[in-house]
Parts: sequence; C-alpha cells; structure tokens
Amino acid sequence: MVSCVTVGDFEISLLRESIHWWDGGAFFGVVPKTLWSRKIQSDELNRIPLGFNCYLIRNGKNTILIETGAGDKQDAAARERMKLPPEAKPLPEVIAGHGFDPDAIDIVINSHLHFDHCGGNTVLMNGSARPAFPQASYFTARGEWEHAHERLSRDRISYIDANYDPLVENGQMTLLEGDCEIVPAVWMRRAPGHNRDMMVVTVESGDRTFCFFSDLVPTSAHVQPTWVAAFDLYPLQSIETKTQWLGTAAAGDWICAFSHDSKIGFAKIVADPKKQFRAEPL
Ligand SMILES: [Zn+2]
Repeated sequence: MVSCVTVGDFEISLLRESIHWWDGGAFFGVVPKTLWSRKIQSDELNRIPLGFNCYLIRNGKNTILIETGAGDKQDAAARERMKLPPEAKPLPEVIAGHGFDPDAIDIVINSHLHFDHCGGNTVLMNGSARPAFPQASYFTARGEWEHAHERLSRDRISYIDANYDPLVENGQMTLLEGDCEIVPAVWMRRAPGHNRDMMVVTVESGDRTFCFFSDLVPTSAHVQPTWVAAFDLYPLQSIETKTQWLGTAAAGDWICAFSHDSKIGFAKIVADPKKQFRAEPL
C-alpha cells in the first residue's frame, strides 16, 4: 500500500491514527448488506474496520495536518464499542512514530467537527483540554462550529466542545466564512451532504491535484454516489455533491484520499460504465 505521494511541490503522507470498528449498516445506509459485505467483511457484531485517517502535507515551508483522529475524550465503554484500546495514544506520539516531527506542524485543518475528525486537536491534562499543537493555526468552517453548538438531537452525540472551543477561545482556531485558500495551493471547499458545512481539502500544485474527500466519500466502497452513510444529514445532497466531485476527480486524474478507509491511503477515481465510478488504489 502506498502511504506517501508527491503532488507538485508537496509531499503528502497518510497518518492513520488508529483502526476502529463501527456498525456496517450505519456506514452503508440503505445499501443492503448482501451488497456491501462483498466489499468489507463485518465481525460478529456487524461492525466493520475503519481508519481514523489523517494526512500530513509538507512543502518545505508549511507542515499541514488534515484531521486529528478521535483523540482521548471517549469514555471506556465508547472505546470498547469501537474495539479501541482502553487508553488513547496522544496524536503527537503517533505522528512521531511515523517518523515526523509533530512540533513542525504549523497548520491543522478540520474538515468538520465530528469527534472522529478533530479529537486529537487537544489533549486532556489534569482534566483540562490543551492544544496538542501549540504552534499551529487551526482552521474549520464557522457554520460547522455554530452547528456544533446547536446541539440538535440528531447529531449532538458527534460533538465534544473540548476538541475545539479552547482553540477558538485562545485565538488559535480560525472559523472560515466560506471556501478558502489556506496557503497557496491548499484549499478548503464546502461540500454539503454529510452535514451542511463539511469541507473537502485539495492541494493543487504542478498540474496535479490531491483531494481529501472527508466523509463525502468515507471509504473506497462509497465511490458509488448512491452508497451514502445512514448518518449523513442530507443524503440526496450527498449524492449530488459526490457525483460532482467524483466526476471532476475522474476527469482530472486526481489522487484522492478517504477519511475512514482502513486499507487504502491513496486512490484514483475512474469512470465506470456500470457503477458510475470505481476507486483504483495507488
Ligand atoms: Zn468521520
């Protein structure tokens, strides 16, 4: 499996925080198990293996981390449900274990604020959440941060304020009003469906494009536009947004990445006469 690619001036590496297990039915929504089980095998509790996938983007000037995994704020029962070890390893240690210097990270991007995408933004020390990357500027969408605080019954379980509020309060986290070029060639763009304000990240350099789809396409099995997770708030919009992004990715020969694939780090999207799209792992 390829865990590192070069896109123009940038080197992009997969950093898988950990593998967890989540209900397969929830991940595939209305798709029958007879179909999705051909792609991913479930365990005796119908759970499938998934990655908490983060990516490190470096160009000699900036070191950018996309997503920070699930972090350390889940209780023991929640961790056991996901087949995670009882104690979380701090993300800076995971990053160092991959051979990278966590102190070099100067930008952290959260595609959205569900706990499994920003849990490692902060670390708990004596009960209080401190920035895991004290030197970094963090970015997410303002609409998503506002939505997190609405605490709607449908999705409030996905939000843990200690993952982002301390960073907003100390001025480390910028809340974006819309699509934004974070540094030259690195873009965050709104891609609604999973929720209203989730953002997709692209790196566009040297005629090549890398795209982190986040939960718009959580695994390579989700490249069929109608294969939408049960927890997407706006499934019809997911299908539409996904069709657009995957079509552009296929036409542009992009290198793509999925937020929760447990095996594939990078893939090309290929137009398929039968299934509309398929993923070809690098
Ligand atoms: Zn997710």
